[in-house]
Formats: sequence, C-alpha cells, structure tokens
Amino acid sequence: MRVHVAGNVCIDTTFRLDRFPVAGETLNASAYSDGLGGKGANQALAATRAGAEVMLWAAIGNDVDSARIRAMLHDEVDTSHLARLDLPSDRSTIVLDASGENFIVTGVSCATAFDPLTMTEVRASIDAGDLFVMQGNLRLAITNDCLAAAKNMGARTIFNPSPLSAGQVPEFGEVDYVIVNRGEAALITGFAEPDLAARALLDRGAGFAIVTLGSQGALLLKRDTGRSLTIPAPKVPAIDTSGAGDVFCGVFAGCLARDLSPVAALRIAIGASAISVARPGTLQSCPTRAEIAALIQ
Ligand code: ADP
Repeated sequence: MRVHVAGNVCIDTTFRLDRFPVAGETLNASAYSDGLGGKGANQALAATRAGAEVMLWAAIGNDVDSARIRAMLHDEVDTSHLARLDLPSDRSTIVLDASGENFIVTGVSCATAFDPLTMTEVRASIDAGDLFVMQGNLRLAITNDCLAAAKNMGARTIFNPSPLSAGQVPEFGEVDYVIVNRGEAALITGFAEPDLAARALLDRGAGFAIVTLGSQGALLLKRDTGRSLTIPAPKVPAIDTSGAGDVFCGVFAGCLARDLSPVAALRIAIGASAISVARPGTLQSCPTRAEIAALIQ
C-alpha cells in the first residue's frame, strides 16, 4: 500500500533578526537560509521516513527554484510526480525575531492553480487500500474533488485541513481520517473542548477524528465505537514546534500504509513528533528512518 500526498511544495527563506523592522525600515538579518517547505512536501518526507512508498503530487513552477526544489527533494522523495506549471514556484519568507515570534509571507501561485486530478497518472496510480493525504494548501473545491475521487477508487483518505482559509468550511464526507490541531478543531466546529470538537468532526462525516493537543499528545475518536482515546506525548524539552503537525500526519499515514492499526499509528506519530519538537527547524527536525523504525519495533 502506498501513500499519495497531494499538496504543495515551496522554498522557505528564513531570516533571523533581533527585532522586526517597522514600515519603511531595512534591517540586516543575523542569519538567513533557504530550505524546502510546504505541508505537502513535509508530510511526504515524514511518510517516507516511516518506511512507506510515497508519491508526492505537487506543482512546481517554470523557474530556477523548480530545479532547486527537485534537488532538495531528490535524496528522499520521488520527484517524478511533480507537475510543472508556467508560473513562479511557490515560496515563503519567514522572519523570526529574537523571542522566536515570526511572521510569514507566502507566494502560492502553483498551489492555487494546481489540480492533481488534471494529471492522468494520479488516477492511474491509486490502488484500493492506498492512503491519499491532503492538506489545506490547495483550493478547497479541488481538495474536496480529489478526496472524493480517491475514496471512489478505494483509497483511504486523510485530510489535515491546515492552514484553514478564512471563510471556507472544510468538508469531511469523503474523509476517513481528519487530523486537526486543537485550535483549528475549535475554529471548524465551535468547540474548544477536544472531545466535543472530535464528535462534531464525526458528525460532519469523518470516519476517525484526531485532534492533536501539542505537549498533551492527541485524541482519537472512532465513528463506529464512539469511544475516544487520548494518548499523552512524551515529555521533551520543546525547542521548536514548527512542523510537528506535519511529522505527525506523515508518520501516521506512513504507518497505516505499513498496515499498522490506527491506534498503533497514532502512538508512533506522537513519538515521532515529540522527537521533532526537541530539535530546531521544520523539515530538518523530522526524525530519521532509523529513529522512526525504532519507535515501530
Ligand atoms: P500543530 O503543529 O499542527 O500546531 P500540535 O501543536 O498539536 O499541532 O502538535 C502536533 C503533535 O506534535 C502533537 O499531537 C504532539 O504529538 C506533538 N507535540 C507538539 N508539541 C509537543 C511538545 N511540546 N511535546 C511533545 N510533543 C509535542
């Protein structure tokens, strides 16, 4: 069973500053670097490291950044399923101040234009039982169509509707597993209490609702039993929680593809994301294959 991740990929440029500039001001960064980003790419990498065979369906532009994206993915994630659009590749600028606060500006031409179902190989490569994973970066109507098509072909669908677009309400009728953090669960359902939010997500059609709870782990609620299970996270010194949700989703999908039960996959996703928060960086903090394999044993 394979994991298909249909989503976005971009280059993240991170600038570190002592303080944020005010309007019209130019400041020199104390450090800056480029890295691979995009929730689709992050989740594809995490699923790969969980030992699954992964296909990343994402769009790159027609510029020098597209070659850089391929090169950055190349070591680990198969780049043969990237669509090339006649647009600039997507990129984000992340500005961090000394306290760790950030602001982020994104250019999302490719994610906005991309429709995975226009790629004939997508339909041709989905087999019954495969995992089909999406996030909130592509247009919502396209995302809904993709999830419905994948479900129709017998795939198990995972939807992590983050980032939530203002004014748009994600649907879960075609979703086997919805994964959301507590804040987003509250925004979607109106319930701050994770258990109530998870029940509301099932009412909207999801088969399983998983609400991630930061340092408190995650809650899983299954439609057919109606019983919820909360698994706590290991206590770790949290250095940088960015990307923890992507490690969680990718590892969860990878473990399901390896035929682990949802509860076993949840435990490993919690263990893997705890490793990631104890390290700096988004993609760089993803646990290695060996570290995830040790959690699976
Ligand atoms: P997101 O990263 O999407 O905001 P969360 O903050 O809920 O979502 O984090 C996702 C998962 O990462 C959690 O379910 C948990 O397993 C793990 N995690 C996050 N923060 C911590 C932490 N401080 N200690 C241990 N695990 C953490």
